[in-house]
Amino acid sequence: MANNIQSIRGMHDILPDSTPLWQHFEKIVRTLLGNYGYNEIRMPLVEQTDLFKRAVGEVTDIVEKEMYILENRKDSEGSEPFSMALRPEGTAGCVRAGIQAGLIFNQQQRLWYAGPMFRAERPQKGRYRQFTQIGVETFGFAGPDIDAELIAISARLWKQLGLRNIHLEINSLGTLEARQAYRQLLVDYFSDQQELLDEDSKRRLHTNPLRILDSKNPAMRELVAAAPNLHEHLDTESAEHFSQLQSLLDGMGIPYRLNPRLVRGLDYYSRTVFEWVTDELGSQGTVCAGGRYDGLVEQLGGRPTPACGFAMGVERLILLLETQNIPTPATAPDLFMIMAGDKAIQAGLGFAEQLRDNLPDLRLVSNCGGGNFKTQMKRADKSGAAFALILGENEIERGEIGLKPLRTKGEQINLPFSSLTAHLSQLLENAKQH
Ligand code: ATP
Ligand code: MG
Repeated sequence: MANNIQSIRGMHDILPDSTPLWQHFEKIVRTLLGNYGYNEIRMPLVEQTDLFKRAVGEVTDIVEKEMYILENRKDSEGSEPFSMALRPEGTAGCVRAGIQAGLIFNQQQRLWYAGPMFRAERPQKGRYRQFTQIGVETFGFAGPDIDAELIAISARLWKQLGLRNIHLEINSLGTLEARQAYRQLLVDYFSDQQELLDEDSKRRLHTNPLRILDSKNPAMRELVAAAPNLHEHLDTESAEHFSQLQSLLDGMGIPYRLNPRLVRGLDYYSRTVFEWVTDELGSQGTVCAGGRYDGLVEQLGGRPTPACGFAMGVERLILLLETQNIPTPATAPDLFMIMAGDKAIQAGLGFAEQLRDNLPDLRLVSNCGGGNFKTQMKRADKSGAAFALILGENEIERGEIGLKPLRTKGEQINLPFSSLTAHLSQLLENAKQH
């Protein structure tokens, strides 16, 4: 027998016993974003590799070592082959789409997207090669009010999901210009201590020294902790923007911690950056991260436009929901229809459709694949249904259908066909109130 082919390492199936939790999560996010006036956008999973090089930055983990590049091929129109990559994140594609469709220039946009991202990382708990992000991006808002709104949306999301123990960290990176001056300070500081730098940091010293602050290497911790502090080198306007953001957060009652080491792994950020972090997921504790990226639209060929957004890691949030034992709303059927005998199947499938016509919310599973009464009863039980509808030759002759509670004690009752809909509708109504 041939070997079974397995899924690719770091790329997981989400099996039917997990999808109810995912759907619950997605429904809450969709509703929440809609309520705040955000519109969904859907982009391709694949873009030109150059897009990510230009947006995310050449000297970043993502571009240097985490992208899946697709085999180049000429398309049938004979255009030159170009390099394509599976998207490692969504902001670049969203900005590309926004510029291309004319959604950004001189407008205000509140957008969101959801879907898989791909990064060639070492898989571990909370870190995968295919993972899901929900991203939220805004364009055309320069002030800190939108930064505050984005943070409020995420705070409300945790609350609606029932999640606890997620903490907000914020920082400001200043403008690109102010960062240049600070950058020189960092280069001087780290150059004096070259022998203490790890390989990655040595390489980044002259290409992207800020990224050294973002180093995950514990051996670098002390060196990084003593580095010059960005806050003391912020430009006046950014400092003002940042202090306004803080008073808006105070006003909304959202607690935060100032973290001057928070630089984020992507090059495109300016001014506000933030992360939501939990200590319940080991080292993969960041469940949501974002900030302002005022330079990116222009960098990708659009007119200069302020922008701010965030992305959350859905797998990590699902893990946290599981860790905190947060219950998922029930998804079991209301009814399982048992039909024994040809006549009963003939009549029963007809009834089932009538019931669905009359009760659009009804969750009804019909027995398929035959089986005697006992077999079907077992299936009904396994389905998790609250009630079994029972239809056999006898019931058909009497013009009745049996209704038997499966989760609670109680006797089967027999209902005339004519009163079935009314009775079930009452039953559903009662169930909703519990
Ligand atoms: P990390 O520091 O954990 O590598 P990052 O800075 O690379 O995160 P972002 O690019 O900001 O992450 O992505 C936003 C969010 O997406 C992260 O906060 C995290 O929740 C999630 N995420 C990022 N990479 C992965 C991954 N490989 N697997 C699962 N979730 C991920
Ligand atoms: Mg990363």
